[in-house]
Amino acid sequence: MSFLLTPIEYLKGIGPTKGELLKKELQIFTFNDLLFHFPYRHIDRSKVYTISELRADMPYVQVKGVLSNLRTLGTKGSQRLVAELRDETGVLELVWFQGHKWIKDSLKANTVYLAFGKPNEFNGTINIVHPNLDDPEDAANKKYLHIMPMYNCTEKMKARGIDSKVLMKCIHSLMADPRFDVEESLSEPLLKEHDLMARKLALQNVHFPPNLAVLAKAQYRLKFEEFFFIQLKLLRYKVKRHQLFNGIKLEIIGDKFNDFYNKYLPFELTNAQKRVVKEIRADVKKGVQMNRLVQGDVGSGKTVVALLAMLMAIDNGYQACMMAPTEILASQHFTSISLLVKDLPIKVKLLTGSTLTKERRIIHEALENGELQILIGTHALIENKVAFKNLGIAIVDEQHRFGVEQRAKLWQKNTYPPHVLVMTATPIPRTLAMTLYGDLDTSVIDELPAGRKPIQTLMRYDASRLAVFGFMKNEILKGRQIYIVYPLIEESETMDYKNLVDGYESICREFPEPNYQVSILHGRMKPKEKEFEMNRFLRGETNIMVATTVIEVGVNVPNASVMIIESAQKFGLSQLHQLRGRVGRGADQSFCILMSDIKQSKEAKLRLNTMVETTDGFKIAEADLKLRGPGELEGTAQSGVLDLKIGDLYHDTAILALARNSAESLLENDPNLQAEENKPMAKYDALYRKTAKWGRIS
Ligand code: ADP
Ligand code: MG
Repeated sequence: MSFLLTPIEYLKGIGPTKGELLKKELQIFTFNDLLFHFPYRHIDRSKVYTISELRADMPYVQVKGVLSNLRTLGTKGSQRLVAELRDETGVLELVWFQGHKWIKDSLKANTVYLAFGKPNEFNGTINIVHPNLDDPEDAANKKYLHIMPMYNCTEKMKARGIDSKVLMKCIHSLMADPRFDVEESLSEPLLKEHDLMARKLALQNVHFPPNLAVLAKAQYRLKFEEFFFIQLKLLRYKVKRHQLFNGIKLEIIGDKFNDFYNKYLPFELTNAQKRVVKEIRADVKKGVQMNRLVQGDVGSGKTVVALLAMLMAIDNGYQACMMAPTEILASQHFTSISLLVKDLPIKVKLLTGSTLTKERRIIHEALENGELQILIGTHALIENKVAFKNLGIAIVDEQHRFGVEQRAKLWQKNTYPPHVLVMTATPIPRTLAMTLYGDLDTSVIDELPAGRKPIQTLMRYDASRLAVFGFMKNEILKGRQIYIVYPLIEESETMDYKNLVDGYESICREFPEPNYQVSILHGRMKPKEKEFEMNRFLRGETNIMVATTVIEVGVNVPNASVMIIESAQKFGLSQLHQLRGRVGRGADQSFCILMSDIKQSKEAKLRLNTMVETTDGFKIAEADLKLRGPGELEGTAQSGVLDLKIGDLYHDTAILALARNSAESLLENDPNLQAEENKPMAKYDALYRKTAKWGRIS
């Protein structure tokens, strides 16, 4: 072990200067870090092409030829090094933009080289940029070159002569050292059960496999290990949480819950809602703190589930709070929840950044003496001044909009941590949820209230705007309301803002008073103005709401049945899905019209087509994950969970599920990893938790 922890500069061929570079550029501090710098691909070098066979669309290829005409071209600052490689079928140009001096010094003209790289087409001829050159004799002698690992290097490294090949040699010599050894991290039974390669062998083969089948097995083993220890860590949080905190016991279902459920609930709950309420009920009565995520697509009815959970707390003499990411959403929750419980003896208040000092004082007092049972609000809820008498449950709506610390603060609002229910309408693919929220229990509301007609989604180019206007007029005639949303992207906020205002003006011209009323809503308005406009629209006093994405999250106006998204190609999938979810909330047929330029990227087209094809949030989330990779998904950026070295949350879902199950059954049988056979895992787990950087979710 200690050998692998040796600082990287002590590795043969590295030294202090290159060591510094590796630390800075790749965060490689030790031999072990280098070992875990896995190749991003392997290249089968058993085949040699002739130069005349090369095409620009080929992946990495290898050719053999004589090097000549090595020269530097261009002016200072934009110089490049060029050479020719010639075989009996033709001539190939080789180009380097970086590391000229180092490369020039290391190459000999009129010598035979094996060159390999990706062929490109430039000015009608084929070239290879930054090829790797090897002595064919060398390659023939060293077996590992046949399936050659390729390593990521930064531009800075390449400029200083550390390229993939240098890294390959370093890793090779590291493994050749007689002191090189790797401890097993998984138990014997687990290795057997899943037919996993031993750890040392896997590490050797992931770099230098004899063939591609062995490579796949080595990768499998390392992916399993990576997922396994993440899951183990998350699951251990959960076990520890249960051991540490006696959750508030909400034993009875009392009058308020029953009255509301039997007398005031304006509709029958869907089966999915009933199931989730039962899951919550089972959690809160058992004396363990609940930490539960409710995933439910837009419009699936999460609010009423949240209210029922709050009533459970209130019936047992506790208070409840609900935090939402925007003022609009918080005040909307306040309005709808106040309305739902208006005939019950329950006091509800709203606390946001714009609550006046006088009102604040009243709220603080009523919270502390327990008069106030439900507090709804924004981040203002977690300020230190806000103290509860006895908070029993905290609910976070659209939880991905909050940071980890903000959610953690809710925990501290009571001597005992309150039960926590986090809700999200941005469906997360199950695999990702498992990794991100492994220490949360999850509930899924996978059913929309009955009678909803699926939203019809259409794509229209700007040229058909007049037809769209005609359609809008028709819908308004039927008494419907319409949203028109403009993108607001931070980098060009001024321009976007101008588009919004121009759009608003042209809508006002097309839809003039007194026949039509148009609202506008954007981030630059004061909270009071926003609220005023939102309420006008909510009450049906305006027909059209022109807005930015401030209306994206949670807003609920059942009579609005048309969502028009301008420049739809600029939005991400989950955002489009959120926006579309603003309509289809009443009984009428709803429409979503995606307006876009004819010119758009391939990816934008895929996004828009996905939207037209499906309304299923989970399918959309999967598509999003596939298109953008997990790092881009909302709410994942700060978690750091996704710094995976080898696992891939899109392709390796089966391995993740296996690893998860294994970790679960391990903890069930041996919660503290004390059994003799589990010693390797306990040891690795301790080491892993010390070095892994990421924090808890809620
Ligand atoms: P979301 O899950 O997006 O937060 P909401 O809680 O805002 O959804 O609910 C969307 C709409 O559906 C609201 O108007 C709500 O009153 C209504 N709703 C919720 N549950 C039901 C149900 N079981 N039957 C009919 N309508 C429902
Ligand atoms: Mg909601």
